[in-house]
Amino acid sequence: MKQLLFLTITCLVLLLSSCGNTTHRTHLPQDTTHTSDLTRLTASGVVKVGIKVDAAPFGYTIGSINAGYDVDVIVAVCSRIGLSNIRFVPVTSSNRFDLLQSGAVDIVIASTSITRSREAHVDFSIPYFQDGQGLLTATTSDITSYQDLTDKKVGCVTGATSAGIISKVAPSSTVVLFPDYTALTAALLEKEIDAASSDSLILMGMQNAAPSGRLHLAGPIFTTEPYGIAVRENQSDLRDALSGALQDMWDAGELQNIIDIWFGPATKYKGNLSFTMTTLPE
Ligand code: GLU
Repeated sequence: MKQLLFLTITCLVLLLSSCGNTTHRTHLPQDTTHTSDLTRLTASGVVKVGIKVDAAPFGYTIGSINAGYDVDVIVAVCSRIGLSNIRFVPVTSSNRFDLLQSGAVDIVIASTSITRSREAHVDFSIPYFQDGQGLLTATTSDITSYQDLTDKKVGCVTGATSAGIISKVAPSSTVVLFPDYTALTAALLEKEIDAASSDSLILMGMQNAAPSGRLHLAGPIFTTEPYGIAVRENQSDLRDALSGALQDMWDAGELQNIIDIWFGPATKYKGNLSFTMTTLPE
């Protein structure tokens, strides 16, 4: 009798568990409709590139023309990978990754540092330049390094790496955020802040945009900011194509020519930084 009861319960359990089991362990069919960004872009030849418009010498405008080191680099890179039709889309430090994720742009080249936390959300090319964070102050200021920022107001741009670094190296300063470099420069000139902090060449661009003699770089750079071209996460074929083109440009001396045009001896940025690319073996 006990055996019959046990058998009946076992059968019932098996029956119920098979009825309630809606999870099918068979493999889902592969998504064969997925087309990579590189395939899609090279098929159309059109690419939307996110670029800064107020961050000389990397991305700015002369009238309606986009100019800057980032512009020249991406034009040369795109030509090497068969993307002849570039549409520039203005981005800021704070919206550049959102515009990439939403599809408003396909590539971002915008003085963007490759960081570990950003790598979690986007794919980066190898570095195509390197700068470091510094300080810009009024020429009359007594600030000579980040160690002088106690109780000072330091302006940074929203979405840049700069604010987080200032909070770390000068915890007793107050960080004030601005939407873009135009607003940051105006705040420094209006003395709303004691210093502005960003990458050193962007600060030099702000200094050049201000009336002569008003602003200067205060002290040496204090971080390493390797710049990368960003694409959407998991678009490694596009990322690899960009990295390959950058290495070919370096080997051919083309990237150095662009560096010399923007930062060489004949420029306002001369002698500030040098860059060497570590190219990968074949
Ligand atoms: N390179 C830094 C960054 O990617 C500062 C400049 C910028 O925001 O573009 O955050």
